[in-house]
Formats: sequence, C-alpha cells, structure tokens
Amino acid sequence: MASFTLQGIPVSRGIAIGRAHLLRPAALEVQHYLVAQEQVEAEVQRLQKALGQAERELQKIWSDLPADAPSELGAFLDVHSLFLSDPMIAQAPLEIIRTRHYNAEWALVTQIDVLLEQFDEIEDEYLRDRKADIAQVAERILKLLTGTANTLNKPVGVDELNTHMIVVARDISPADMMQFQDSAFVGFVTDEGGHSSHTAIVSRSLGIPAVVGMGNASHLIQQDDWLILDSVSGVVIVAPEQIILEEYREKLAELQRFRKRLTKLKKTSAVTRDGVTIELLANIELPEHAAAANEVGAAGVGLFRSEFLFMGRNGNLPTEEEQFLAYKSTVVAMKGRPVTIRTLDVGADKPLDETESATLNPAMGLRAIRYCLAEPQLFLTQLRAILRASAFGKVHILIPMLSHAFEIDQTLAMLEQAKHLLALQGIEFDHDIKVGAMIEVPAAAMSLPMFVKKMDFLSIGTNDLIQYTLAIDRADYSVAHLYDDVHPAILQLLDMTVKAANKAGIPVAICGGMAGDIRLTRLLIGMGFRELSMPPAQLLEIKQEVMNVDISQFSAIIKKILRSYDPEVIAEGIRALQAL
Ligand code: PEP
Ligand code: MG
Repeated sequence: MASFTLQGIPVSRGIAIGRAHLLRPAALEVQHYLVAQEQVEAEVQRLQKALGQAERELQKIWSDLPADAPSELGAFLDVHSLFLSDPMIAQAPLEIIRTRHYNAEWALVTQIDVLLEQFDEIEDEYLRDRKADIAQVAERILKLLTGTANTLNKPVGVDELNTHMIVVARDISPADMMQFQDSAFVGFVTDEGGHSSHTAIVSRSLGIPAVVGMGNASHLIQQDDWLILDSVSGVVIVAPEQIILEEYREKLAELQRFRKRLTKLKKTSAVTRDGVTIELLANIELPEHAAAANEVGAAGVGLFRSEFLFMGRNGNLPTEEEQFLAYKSTVVAMKGRPVTIRTLDVGADKPLDETESATLNPAMGLRAIRYCLAEPQLFLTQLRAILRASAFGKVHILIPMLSHAFEIDQTLAMLEQAKHLLALQGIEFDHDIKVGAMIEVPAAAMSLPMFVKKMDFLSIGTNDLIQYTLAIDRADYSVAHLYDDVHPAILQLLDMTVKAANKAGIPVAICGGMAGDIRLTRLLIGMGFRELSMPPAQLLEIKQEVMNVDISQFSAIIKKILRSYDPEVIAEGIRALQAL
C-alpha cells in the first residue's frame, strides 16, 4: 500500500508508532483490554457461554409466546436465532480472541462492526434492514457478557503481533478515553476535536501522543495500517516506508532519552536564573493520577478536575463517602502539598452521561457552577466531601465558570452551610479553607474587583477563556484554525487578571492549556505569573525552561507585546523572548 500523510492538530506532544485500531462509536461502549496468552481459552469460553445463554433466552421467549401473538414476532425470533448460530457471529469473534487477544466484548463488537458495514452495501432493502436485528443480537450477547466482565481482567501491553496500537476514531469522549490508560494503546487519532477539547486534555494528562481534528482520517485509515503519529508537528504517516519508519524509531528513542534525562530535575526547585521561584503544579483528573504528579515532583495539584469522578456512571453519582475517600486519597498522596479541588464542572463536552440530552448551545448552557447551584443537594454533598478531606492535608476549593456576583455569594453561602453542618456533627475540617475562582469567562476577567474582594485566589482557565473570548467552540475542529492563545484580547485579559490579583495581594495561577505550553512559558512568567498548573507529562520540560531564564531581561519585550494589537508584533516579541 502506498504511503500517505495526514495533517491535524497536535495536542499532546510525542511520537507513537503502531498499528491502527479503528473504533466505531458502538465499539466505544465496551471495555478494551488484551488478555494474557494463558487466559485466552478462558476468555473464549466466556464468550461461548454468553452465546449459549443468548440462544436459551431466545428459545424461552419463543416458548412463552402467547398463542395469539402476531406471526411476525416468531419470525423475528427466528432471524435472531439464525444470526446467533451463524459462524460470522458464533465463530469469528472467538478467532479474534485467539489471534488478537482482545477481550470478549471487544472481539464481539469488532466483528459486529465488520458485519454492519457489509450490510450497508447490500442493495436489497429487506436484507439491509436486517442490520437492526444484528445490532439487537449483539446487544443481547453483550448484556450477558457484562455480567461476567472484570473476572479475568488486566491489560497486558501488546497484541499477538507484538505491536502497539493507535486508536483511530471519529471522536472519543473524555470518559471513554480514560479506559485506554494502562493498556496497549500508544496514541490517539481523531477526526474531530480541537486544541483544548477535553479529549485533547485527557490525552495530555495520560501522556499519550494525540493528533485531533484530522477531518476524515477514520475513513482513510484502514484497520491494522501501520501508523507513525508525530504529535509534535501534527502529522500522521500512514503505511510509512521502511526508511521513514527507521527514522522515526530513532526520533522516538531520542525523545525517550530526553525524557529520562529530565527526570533528574524531579527534586530541583523551579527557580529562574535571577532567583524567582515559579510554582509548577499538576492538573489531574482522578486520584490515581496523583502518582504521576509526584513522579515529576509537582509542587502540588493545581487543578483536580473532580467531574471525572461523576462521568459515565449512568446516573449513579458518587456518594459523599465515595467522594471523600477519593479526595482524601489524593490529599494523602500529595503528602502535605496543596491540592486544589475544582468543584463539579460538567456540561458541554463533558456530559455526565452520553445519553444526556443536548441543549442548543451546551458550552453556554447549564454547566459548571451554574449546574451546581441548580442542584444544591449535589453541590452540598460535594462541598462536604471536600471539606472532610481538608482535615487530612492542604486543600483549596476552586469554583469553575463564575461570572456573576450572586453566583459567588450563593457559592460561599453553600460552603458556609456545609461547614455549619459538619461542625454540628463534630466532623473535622479546615475552617480556614481557601476558596478560589476560575477566571474563564471574559465577564469575570473584566470585573475582577468583584472577585478579588470575596475570593482567596484566582486561577485562569485559558481553555474556556479563549473559547468564550474568541467565540470558538473548543471541541469543533472546523473552527480550530481560529484558536489563538496569543490573540491581543487574550493577552489583555491575562494581563488585567495578574495585575488585579497582585494589587489585591491574592495568588493567581494559570491552570488552562497555556500553562503547559513551552512556547509560552517565558511570556507568562514575564507577564508576572508565578504559578502554572499543567499535565504532569509537561512539567519537567517546563521546569527546565524556567531554570534557563532570567526574567529581568524580559520586561522591555513584554511591554512591547502588551502594548501591541498587531499579531505580527506579538509573534515577533515571543520569538525575541525565545532567543534570549
Ligand atoms: C480551562 O478552561 O482552561 C480549564 C482549566 O478547565 P477545563 O479545561 O476543564 O474546562
Ligand atoms: Mg474550563
């Protein structure tokens, strides 16, 4: 096959080499893991058992049919039975388990996807309509399988060809992406998504290279194609020639050596050459990620996106106790270093459940603090859980999406209520817990006096600030070319925020994507930012950059950048900082 190259938006720096694994939307709903060689036959039997049970279920339905049931019902059951015993369903998935070591659910959906695609090409309308029957049969088997899932789990790295896999999909939700951590997947390629879509953020957090906004990559790339994913330049090379493959293997090895060298900086403080300390903190999505924050010597957790504890649970939201344990384990893992827990930020591209009905304009809808204030019981439960965890270490509370004074007041009143209830019950917590506002709506950045008066600290969410200021949906690749983190409007808002916080004497951090972008480190610390929170995978590289700079040299260039409304002058200024 001839090699070709596709271009997209690089969102998580790195290089991956592997075979394409195409994921259709249906396939995303099941677990994906590779079973170890010695577990393969047990996995085959698990699927065989489910197939047998499905057949018995169908027979039972048949025999229970009332005498006067419409005759088509019987006919449908016959069709389902026929499909169930067809080797394309009864045998082919078993082969996939044996040859590729996929878990049973994954093997089944992989095969069903192939069948459904074949049905799409059938001319005969009646036969084409049988697609729905196949999907229903698959559903029946999957239901039976999920009852026995998790019994033989555990991913084991690579498949039978001893190669890593790169997920190729139209889109992957942040919650779905989580299931690929610790597995055989080394990269993500998606048709949709933008620089700071939550899918991009999660891939950065997992430290897995990803290129998004590829347009129609999932149609152009075939299952099992060899891919090189270069998420430094945003290129995916399909079916690369041997010589290119060798070149990239060398680049990958060099990158790995570079990362290894960086680990030596783990215990070094991030201090500039002219003696200014920059706090480098970690963004995490789950308590388990605290380990990654510690591994790179983060000064604390600057953003714990607590919504990931709530997503994809079919309405079974975590209880106060479950949340408390999650927050506490993070706080304990950080050993006295601060943990900033952001209260639930759901909505837009982070729905609680995939089935949640979409509103007209979700990014501007009932998300984040708006959602929490509309669901006081849920919010109170979370605040209680966070407060309880604050008895075990240093915890800060961060409120997303604030824009109105009354939202600040209502939030603080809810917090007081939660404190009061805990105190009545004699439960310990930090009475002096610090509460901060995310500055991520332009209105907030333009009414800072309202915030600094009532809040203990600020943290800028540049992902949303850019989305709302430039009016571009952060997850929509068709407007991704308009994404500009150094647009004069953004720089002005950042400048206003850091100055207002400094004037009020309260700390200000950046926890959006700009904080972890090495191109911007000099600009941000030159502007006066002293706290940057980012995915752990980026922290050591940024630390090295911090240690290389002398901020006192920056001021003239920074002034020029901030005075200018000309993108060329701004770009030139950033290059000049780089050259110092
Ligand atoms: C942001 O908006 O920049 C941010 C940090 O929050 P999130 O990306 O989770 O919306
Ligand atoms: Mg945000």
